[in-house]
Amino acid sequence: MTTTQVSGNARQLTRFGFVNCYLVREEDGFTLIDTGMLSSTAALIIAEAARLNAPIRRILLTHAHTDHVGSVDALLAKLGSDRTELISNERSLPILRTPPDLSMRPGEAPGKIKGGTPGIRSKPTRLLSEGDKVGSLRCIDTPGHIPGHMSFLDERDGTLYAGDALVAMGELNVSNHAPWFFPFPKFVTWNAEVAVASAEKLLAYPIERFACGHGPVRQGGIPALRQAIAKVKA
Ligand SMILES: [Zn+2]
Repeated sequence: MTTTQVSGNARQLTRFGFVNCYLVREEDGFTLIDTGMLSSTAALIIAEAARLNAPIRRILLTHAHTDHVGSVDALLAKLGSDRTELISNERSLPILRTPPDLSMRPGEAPGKIKGGTPGIRSKPTRLLSEGDKVGSLRCIDTPGHIPGHMSFLDERDGTLYAGDALVAMGELNVSNHAPWFFPFPKFVTWNAEVAVASAEKLLAYPIERFACGHGPVRQGGIPALRQAIAKVKA
């Protein structure tokens, strides 16, 4: 696993060169955003938090795909589920269940939930709605890649933790316009139009940099996001 500084407030943890999760520093310790693909990632995340000298207080999920929830159960077993919050949203609950319920809801855009959704045994202890805050992070609903997808804006430094709403392999892209060498997020995106609408919604936020589920942290703020949207609409 490699680790990279995102900003003064967070560290990016990367496994296999393309699966990211993030330790975001708060006054009481770390908020972990996503958990990697394999249960073995848990020990690596905990070791990095220990090296940085702060406890992991909560796990925050962008969405239910396997490469984001892979070590939730292992982490909570090690950290203590009574001492660690697990935070998601209501729409993600059926997708996080084992076995998952992938049915669409009335009023949702068409499409099928794709990609690996193995579910987790742990139950979220807190459910977010649009606009809620978790420490310094503002919750923004960004469905499209999958129903229930959330992004989180650190209002201290303008870092957007975008999960797979945006993909940063090569350059910044909306998830349904991934480059040829990293097409997976595109293949597993539920609804392209909803994904683009979520990216356009993000234009209204004071974003400085993008910390995505895949690829290095990208600077460039709103102009970079405009470019990504222009590519997908071209
Ligand atoms: Zn995904």
